[in-house]
Amino acid sequence: MSQYDVAIIGGGAAGLSAALVLARARRNILVIDAGTPRNAPAPHVHGYLSRDGLPPNELLAAGRDEVTGYGGEVVSGTATDLVPDGHGGFWARIDDGQPISVRRLLVTTGLRDELPDIAGLRDRWARDVLHCPYCHGYEVRDRQLGVIGAGPGDVRYAQIVRQWTHDLVYFTQPDTLSATERAELLARAIGVVEGTIDQLVIDGGQLRGVLMSDGCVVRRDVLFVPPRFIPNNDLLVRLGCLVDRDGWVVADHTGRTSVPGVWAAGNVIDPRAQVITAAGAGSAAAIAINADLVDHDVLDAVLDLNNGPLPRPTTNAHPEETP
Ligand SMILES: Cc1cc2nc3c(=O)[nH]c(=O)nc-3n(C[C@H](O)[C@H](O)[C@H](O)COP(=O)(O)OP(=O)(O)OC[C@H]3O[C@@H](n4cnc5c(N)ncnc54)[C@H](O)[C@@H]3O)c2cc1C
Repeated sequence: MSQYDVAIIGGGAAGLSAALVLARARRNILVIDAGTPRNAPAPHVHGYLSRDGLPPNELLAAGRDEVTGYGGEVVSGTATDLVPDGHGGFWARIDDGQPISVRRLLVTTGLRDELPDIAGLRDRWARDVLHCPYCHGYEVRDRQLGVIGAGPGDVRYAQIVRQWTHDLVYFTQPDTLSATERAELLARAIGVVEGTIDQLVIDGGQLRGVLMSDGCVVRRDVLFVPPRFIPNNDLLVRLGCLVDRDGWVVADHTGRTSVPGVWAAGNVIDPRAQVITAAGAGSAAAIAINADLVDHDVLDAVLDLNNGPLPRPTTNAHPEETP
């Protein structure tokens, strides 16, 4: 049976960044990754300093190489079960395999984007149906853009998308706009189309416009859609981590959850995290986890010193370094 200092569930930007820091801290770590990072359908990662424009799979492949280069292990699979072992550690099960013993857990399983139920929308996701203007706005600047509004806050989102084009249409159901919102849209020359969208118009493999239920077609090159973010946090919830009233796991600034020994980082706890900030959160969690393990190792060492003649080596210490 293998014992790891830390199991990291999810090998996206957050998980691999944490793995790199922990492997360099000479921790014995295992990354378990199901291989479905959120931005996989996108051709490029943007806004990541020094890596702008790299395909997402290339960024992660480079990260995996760095982690394994320092002795970290990365395996493909799905963590299906995480349970406390009753001694401050945990058992982690991958698919239907044997449980693996780990001292600490870091969950970096990301989130899912739930899109409005409009015919053709999901098929165009990450091509000409986008959600993040900071990720893709520059690439579609000055084109005919649309924002599909679905709820409160979406007018403000449209005002942000307006930063990238002068030709923007806001689609919304009738009678949803307040007088102030209407005036603000008008003030920045954002067109308003009120009605029900029937489907997207695709021609020659490209979005051409939006077909409304009254038969009218509104020409658009690209649509921005604010998705509903659903955290992949079942494992954390089953461990008993505290969630807020919207169902998001609560964690401190290092990603420490309410369950001792369990951390989380990236989109699984923070829908606003971009690739670079998810990586930063993974790094912060790794440093906190290592400090927690060191505290535990100190306690163990003092207990051993008081109970016997020789200190017991810590789990990650190399034999030649033990006194
Ligand atoms: C279309 C699109 C384009 C984007 N473009 C950009 C961009 O250009 N720039 C930018 O900064 N951000 C971009 N983003 C946002 C970016 O995808 C996220 O910020 C980033 O992926 C968050 O990293 P993460 O590590 O938290 O999660 P993810 O990258 O989603 O990684 C989570 C990993 O956990 C794995 N996993 C889930 N459950 C389990 C389990 N039970 N066991 C094992 N593994 C599991 C998944 O398979 C996945 O590999 C984009 C998002 C989308 C949807």
